[in-house]
Amino acid sequence: MNKKVVMGLSGGMDSATMAAYFLSKGYEVFPVSFDYGSKHNQYERKTAEQFANYYNLKLQKVELPFIGQLFKSNLLKTGGEIPEGHYESENMSQTVVPGRNIIFISIMAGYAWSIGASYIAVGVHAGDHAIYADCREEFIASMNASILNGTEDKVRLIAPFQNLDKAGILEIGHSLFIDGYDVGVPYQFTRTCYKDQELSCGKCGSCQERLEGFQKIGRQDPIQYEE
Ligand SMILES: [Zn+2]
Repeated sequence: MNKKVVMGLSGGMDSATMAAYFLSKGYEVFPVSFDYGSKHNQYERKTAEQFANYYNLKLQKVELPFIGQLFKSNLLKTGGEIPEGHYESENMSQTVVPGRNIIFISIMAGYAWSIGASYIAVGVHAGDHAIYADCREEFIASMNASILNGTEDKVRLIAPFQNLDKAGILEIGHSLFIDGYDVGVPYQFTRTCYKDQELSCGKCGSCQERLEGFQKIGRQDPIQYEE
């Protein structure tokens, strides 16, 4: 196994923390940004680019327009309104994009094999498990088995934050030491909101979970929210 890792860099705080976490451990990080036609993709990609530039990473951009055309989800531009309320509540299931991580991970497996990277990492966390089946431990374990089988044992899937909540991830992010950079993850270059607007709303489940995380660790979220 080598110290090369391919990962999804969504532009949000979980994958950003994970990228910094692997950099702090001396890994070479190969981030991938997927545009699958979600309402927030254009804003997320901007923060993913800013974040990648901060650490001098080359961001691979993958366009998946068929998802918006064929799949049903309120997270997509083709779907209905983004629900407000708590992240784990029933109405947030409207934001499930069917099989999204199955597709992302499969693409990253092919990319990892192509560049000789031993690992694919995903930033799923405990808060995702309630509504997103393709973020749960069982899924990660069986997907890892499939990838090992499908790549002659060359690539494996890891999810280092799968048992942490947002606050736990933020605690890690504020304690990393990365050679040549300030201590801590540049959270100003991340965005979590699901809505189709420049400024984060602070009200959707995703925003609420992020704000709760910062509150829990007693720190100020550096991004700007709408009034
Ligand atoms: Zn929001």
